[in-house]
Amino acid sequence: MVKESGNGSRGWGSRTRAVRGGLDRSGHHETAEAMYLTSGFVYGSAAEAEEAFASKKSTRYVYSRFGNPTVAMFEERLRQLEGAGACRAVASGMAAVSASLLCQVRAGDRVVASRALFGSCQYIVGELLPRYGVEAVFVDGTDEAQWRAALTRPAKAVFLETPSNPMLEVIDLRMVAALARQAGARVVVDNVFATPLLQKPLELGADIVVYSATKHIDGQGRCLGGAVLGSAEWVEAELVPFLRHTGPALSPFNAWTLAKGLETLDLRVAASCASALALARRFEGHPKLARLRYPFLESHPQHALARAQMSAGGTIITLGFRGGKEAAFRFLDALEIVDISNNLGDSKSLTCHPATTTHQRLTEAERAHLGIDAGTVRFSVGLEDLADLEADLAQALDAA
Ligand SMILES: *Cc1c(COP(=O)(O)O)cnc(C)c1O
Repeated sequence: MVKESGNGSRGWGSRTRAVRGGLDRSGHHETAEAMYLTSGFVYGSAAEAEEAFASKKSTRYVYSRFGNPTVAMFEERLRQLEGAGACRAVASGMAAVSASLLCQVRAGDRVVASRALFGSCQYIVGELLPRYGVEAVFVDGTDEAQWRAALTRPAKAVFLETPSNPMLEVIDLRMVAALARQAGARVVVDNVFATPLLQKPLELGADIVVYSATKHIDGQGRCLGGAVLGSAEWVEAELVPFLRHTGPALSPFNAWTLAKGLETLDLRVAASCASALALARRFEGHPKLARLRYPFLESHPQHALARAQMSAGGTIITLGFRGGKEAAFRFLDALEIVDISNNLGDSKSLTCHPATTTHQRLTEAERAHLGIDAGTVRFSVGLEDLADLEADLAQALDAA
């Protein structure tokens, strides 16, 4: 008998879920997931159309802004990997972040967020939400006292990113989740740097997880995508109506690409993490560097927490050059294999200078507060041979 579905009901391990989860074969019994490049769907009769719109429980597709079979395969595969009640995919990571927050707040609500956020996330929380009457409170994510103070008053949502971009701050998810619960707030975790494999925010007390699938889930620089995961009740009640009517739908083509990306996520992330740890160990203490930060190095300020909360240190290393911007630029320009790019989580190693690119929008004082200085360089470790990366870094560090 042909295996037609990937419902994961037999207690599959994560690699099996990543390859077979959500599989929904058509009558043609194709091997790979089918790509349903269609905006709409047709009905055999007017009564069938009426029924599809009338029934809340209808399982048939009506319009790709509401749902699409290829997008659904990606959603179900990621849902199984995360161990969440439900998953909805969207067109980008920022669509995921903005929808996850906007769908649940209204004027008069408070949102508490860690200060160290991806630039556009900072815009959503710090600028957009207040325009609609939502109070935004920022705290230093590693300072329990600040979380405690901010969450003594009721709040609607908590938003944070751990490890953070680009300083790789690690925030105690259990601690924040416990304080948030007392304040009546749902905890939304941007889990991009950890990926669905290295850190399970829902098991640590978070309510909602968001991804930029553009990063490790695609991981091959091909397309944008995002996802929001949470309980089936919350997704149905709050997220789905918002998505249906605001329309940040993921293209079926991108969903197909991302579903195929999930098949190799485990292998790719494991290989990049192993290289990242090896490179971090090899270059820590290099004379050109004032610091090298990586969550699984003993020198990381939250090393013990990172080990307790994550199963590997991730694919990003952050360097701090003693010679400031000039040394950082000399390093970037001297790299022969590694590309200069603001993307991350790719099979190609990529590096950037946050102060002049991803974090240019912040004031110098804000950057200083986050620990981002002119010598800071973010390094996303890819899948090249470790020996080649070591040699490239070594010669570029000499040139710096
Ligand atoms: C890239 C990124 C985003 C935004 O994702 P896009 O797919 O670029 O919209 C959000 N959060 C983090 C941590 C990211 O790295």
